[in-house]
Amino acid sequence: MAARKKVIVITGGAGFVGSHLCDRFIRDGLRVICVDNLITGSLQNIRHLRKDKNFDFMKRDVSRRLLITGPVDYILHFASPASPVDYMHYPIPTLKVGSLGAHNTLGLAKLKKARYLLASTSEVYGDPKVHPQKETYWGNVNPVGPRGCYDEAKRFAEAITMAYHRYHKIDTRIVRIFNTYGPRMRIMDGRVVPNFIYQALHGMPLTVYGNGQQTRSFCFYSDLVEGIVRLLYSKVHTPVNVGNPDEFTILEFAKLVIRMSGTKSKIIYRPLPTDDPKQRKPDITMAKKYLKWQPKVKLKEGLSDTIEWFKANFKV
Ligand code: NAD
Ligand code: UDP
Repeated sequence: MAARKKVIVITGGAGFVGSHLCDRFIRDGLRVICVDNLITGSLQNIRHLRKDKNFDFMKRDVSRRLLITGPVDYILHFASPASPVDYMHYPIPTLKVGSLGAHNTLGLAKLKKARYLLASTSEVYGDPKVHPQKETYWGNVNPVGPRGCYDEAKRFAEAITMAYHRYHKIDTRIVRIFNTYGPRMRIMDGRVVPNFIYQALHGMPLTVYGNGQQTRSFCFYSDLVEGIVRLLYSKVHTPVNVGNPDEFTILEFAKLVIRMSGTKSKIIYRPLPTDDPKQRKPDITMAKKYLKWQPKVKLKEGLSDTIEWFKANFKV
């Protein structure tokens, strides 16, 4: 008798990162159950998978009780609005999916004896006072500011994941994802990469918030997916940063987008959102040591693919 295929549940699987994970695990020969309520995701991202006999889609809000029949080997909890514009628009669903959604999916992991991987974020470091950010840094988060709904939900999600690991002996992993970009981001999701590309391709001014001296480090989605897969198959239970340590100011990034998209767009300055982190760069020593992982795609390469994808998909 042929061995049963491993089954992986991916919450948020119709989103930007989640849909690339669905692709990867289908390619690797697993059976994928994608669970998503489409609050910020899109069926378009998984349309090419719908006819695959190893792929199932369930439209569900994972902040409510989640029932799945049959065996489950792995659960990846990626459901959550992720763009600051999205999570500030949906503060309560964001808090619920980070807390109740994590609780429900951990309960499912316990029932099915499945391995569990939580998508956490560099936002757990808040506006960091330590640079670059190491996993041992506890962060500087304003719990009652506008970003608190996301940051604290993810911090709670990490805490409950570790509690299930320690108390119920669930086999868990936590990835702290730093700014990731690429094809399938929503062009209007408000994050800096789609915003600048949209503005550049339409000849509109690029909106730099503040003086543009705040920094970010941008990771291409394919590098992130590889890091997540390696973490899932590793034995590391404490959080691991996965991101690209090449750091840029937002002003430098705006100029790069203008150059690479060949536009005559200018730069205009807009107020810096409340609590916008001033600097962000992952320390990836742990990922290098335990996952033998480091990013391969340079910003110029990844940005060029992303610009081409936006051109092809949004008929600019
Ligand atoms: P995204 O908005 O494209 O994807 C999130 C997906 O979750 C969407 O498909 C959305 O519909 C779904 N979702 C949200 N709430 C849900 C609920 N209650 N029930 C079911 N589905 C729900 O965002 P993304 O960039 O792909 O982010 C995916 C995950 O990675 C998130 O957990 C996010 O916090 C984390 N992350 C992403 C980044 C990044 O730079 N992309 C950085 C740090 C962390
Ligand atoms: N940003 C900007 N112009 C935009 C969108 C974002 O200058 O049109 C800045 C934002 O203030 C932040 C950085 O770009 O400093 C990254 O923002 P993003 O929303 O992508 O995610 P964050 O890293 O803040 O979660």
